[in-house]
Amino acid sequence: MRHLLSAADLTGEQIGSILNTAEEMHQLQGRAIKKLPTLRGRTVVNMFFEDSTRTRTSFEMAGKWMSADTINVAAKGSSVSKGESMRDTMLTLDAMGVDCFVIRHPSSGAVAQAAGWVRAHVVNAGDGTHEHPTQALLDAFAIRRHFRQLGTEGWVGKKIAIVGDLLHSRVVRSNVLLQRTLGSEVILVAPPTLLPTGVEEWGCQVTHDLDSVLAEVDVVMMLRVQRERMQGGFFPSAREYTEFYGLTPERLNRLKDGAAICHPGPMNRGLEISSAAADASRSLILDQVTAGVSVRMSVLYHLLGGDDSQGATR
Ligand code: ASP
Repeated sequence: MRHLLSAADLTGEQIGSILNTAEEMHQLQGRAIKKLPTLRGRTVVNMFFEDSTRTRTSFEMAGKWMSADTINVAAKGSSVSKGESMRDTMLTLDAMGVDCFVIRHPSSGAVAQAAGWVRAHVVNAGDGTHEHPTQALLDAFAIRRHFRQLGTEGWVGKKIAIVGDLLHSRVVRSNVLLQRTLGSEVILVAPPTLLPTGVEEWGCQVTHDLDSVLAEVDVVMMLRVQRERMQGGFFPSAREYTEFYGLTPERLNRLKDGAAICHPGPMNRGLEISSAAADASRSLILDQVTAGVSVRMSVLYHLLGGDDSQGATR
């Protein structure tokens, strides 16, 4: 694997391989000393041009736990704030001998463009409203573990509802692509104002009525209302949004046995998800966070570990 830019780049076999390696990495998370020599001598630069808690920290931990040298570069504090272009900043770091860039950028498509400039591997850690492939991988990892614990295997026939602000979400695109490759059925639930254009071509059932699908799904993935990307009113009031699209305590009670709750975080508690749902025993939200480190270790391993003849050797 040269880069990880989109969930669409991954075959079912590659997803399986990443999840299986992540399972091994997951064992390490339970140990007191979390260090493998796997990526010793490799340098990973996290370039985050947009805010992040989970993704940036987990990529940094993932690199460190595999003994890579990890460096964080934010737009503020780098020469980008002096007017240097992203391309020149990346070429400068690439010339120093960086092996992998992990990039988050507010513009859709910016990470794929950046991958064309450098010799190093590139991972898309979220580009605008486009994609966030490692989020979809870690969601799949947490969901797979949940169903394995319940004694069921396989994705085919599993129904996953993705609910809320789909318009501004990169998580939904990556999840649709990845889950459909795995064979799950994805149901998209949102008010008409928060559906992306062209969504009818994604090959998923689309509904505005959460209550009509809630009782039949195996996973309900609630998405954050991304107020920082909204100009203007997408729904009349927060109260009305919660009434129609929030995972309220009443809706929580209507989920079927074994159904899991996911949310990529950060959450707006009380808006798209109630505390009762977020903290319920069937909530995988903290499992998703834990999975973030194991899956990102696995992704870095798949890019940089072993024979890196395709990559940034110089
Ligand atoms: N953390 C996720 C992302 O970066 C979801 C969100 O921000 O709501 O896309």
